[in-house]
Amino acid sequence: CGIVGYVGTKPVLPVILEGLRRLEYRGYDSAGIAVGGAGNGLELRRAPGKLRNLEEVIRQSPIHGTFGIGHTRWATHGRPTEENAHPHRDCTGRIVVVHNGIVENYLELKRELAAEGHKFVTETDTEVIAHLIEQELKSAADSGKTMLLEDAVRRAVRRLTGAFAIGVISADEPDKIVAARNGPPAVIGLGDGEYFVASDVPGILHHTRNLYFLADGDMAILTKSGVVLTDFDGNHIERPVQRIQWDP
Ligand code: GLU
Repeated sequence: CGIVGYVGTKPVLPVILEGLRRLEYRGYDSAGIAVGGAGNGLELRRAPGKLRNLEEVIRQSPIHGTFGIGHTRWATHGRPTEENAHPHRDCTGRIVVVHNGIVENYLELKRELAAEGHKFVTETDTEVIAHLIEQELKSAADSGKTMLLEDAVRRAVRRLTGAFAIGVISADEPDKIVAARNGPPAVIGLGDGEYFVASDVPGILHHTRNLYFLADGDMAILTKSGVVLTDFDGNHIERPVQRIQWDP
């Protein structure tokens, strides 16, 4: 339902939690966050219910990092439990996905991936996205190639039918977020050496007013050095930077 991601030099937790709070009006039943960059792989915290439950979990078990993604979930597939709250992981726990929307062909993909040996631990449609990305990276590695996260995400999203706005991070490619849109809105915020992704403008407006609005079929690769936009075939695309004049 709500997505906020950040790559930059500020402490990542307050940026994401504040952004999610500003998206609360969209409604949600659970929330979660994943951060990386502190040398411990990716760390996840999730909680059913309000954002303050997630904040309490983080207070009891703090996490730190330089990049991360957060999510407020409006459950469509699977009950609103901690386990089903986003972010969702692949088998290795090194790839993490947040998702708005519905993956219509998730049962078919789940069957295919399970036959390849993937183990699923949630009832969500979203979890297949993390495993699809893992499978793409694994197939490339098995044939002696290295594949970048954005290329694996691109191949994965091309297999999805339905509606999605996603944010993906990997423990193996710190300080990078890959976002893709087909349906639910996604905006990219352009700061000075810091970049944001959100499902709606209020999630990032207090940090920057320079935005790209992703169109359906757009992908964005955010790193500390900037944002690259491509289509789902990997062709570079341009979108105008929109300067928002709006007092929230
Ligand atoms: N379909 C996903 C789920 O049920 C995402 C829901 C959302 O947009 O928050 O977990």
